[in-house]
Amino acid sequence: ETVVRLDGVRKEYGETAALDGVSLRIRRGEAVAVMGPSGCGKSTLLNMVAGLDRPTSGEVTVHGERLDLMSETRLALFRRHHLGMIFQFFNLLDDLSALDNVALAAQLTGSPAGTARRRALELFDELGIADRRDLYPAALSGGERQRVAVARALMNRPALLLADEPTGALDSRAGEQVMDLLIDLNQIGQTLLIVTHDERLAHRCASRLVEFADGRIAAESTLDRV
Ligand code: ADP
Ligand code: ADP
Repeated sequence: ETVVRLDGVRKEYGETAALDGVSLRIRRGEAVAVMGPSGCGKSTLLNMVAGLDRPTSGEVTVHGERLDLMSETRLALFRRHHLGMIFQFFNLLDDLSALDNVALAAQLTGSPAGTARRRALELFDELGIADRRDLYPAALSGGERQRVAVARALMNRPALLLADEPTGALDSRAGEQVMDLLIDLNQIGQTLLIVTHDERLAHRCASRLVEFADGRIAAESTLDRV
């Protein structure tokens, strides 16, 4: 089963082709890392797959739906229901507790507050942060914030978890905890797409490496995870 399919995707910003004919397929259960120098189109790729931006030409299919043809309203719903996202700087809401940050993701898809809270509590247990649930983001370490962000991303059991430099703002120990978490998630079947500069992250967590250069896929390889 294919979770992500890009066919001949081109994205132009004025004169610049940020993506210059990218075709990529990610199957369910794969963990794909995208690497490449700054400016090569990695964020643009992630934005296409997340439905945050549209291709100039080409097709973007995620979880069986053509994102390039969807209205903005349906894209917003699609993202909430089927995608989880984690970011370098966590993107938690500062004025909500850790638990409320996570529960909100389910409430935004229409779950009743009690159901959302129960699912959030379950994830806090699973991710080993149960004792942090009532703290606000400012009181959490970087590693804890990222685990809260992972919990939020998993709330709606997404078909795909997208990670944009998930260890980029963490010290090496916290970074390793987040890597271990991503590995565990992939081992229980979570499909991952990770964009990173971090070789160790790619080699530890990914089953396949896609190397970008100048808006194109320059190389692809299968990884034996260490
Ligand atoms: P990366 O994430 O690999 O650093 P990006 O996808 O951010 O690369 O950028 C690819 C190219 O597209 C770069 O030349 C960048 O300057 C350009 N670009 C990206 N986003 C925009 C935008 N919103 N407007 C104009 N140019 C952009
Ligand atoms: P709004 O409709 O007010 O723009 P959003 O639905 O975009 O609200 O999201 C509200 C908050 O929840 C944001 O901080 C956003 O980053 C987060 N969020 C929403 N959906 C997800 C998701 N699938 N994964 C991770 N965070 C999400």
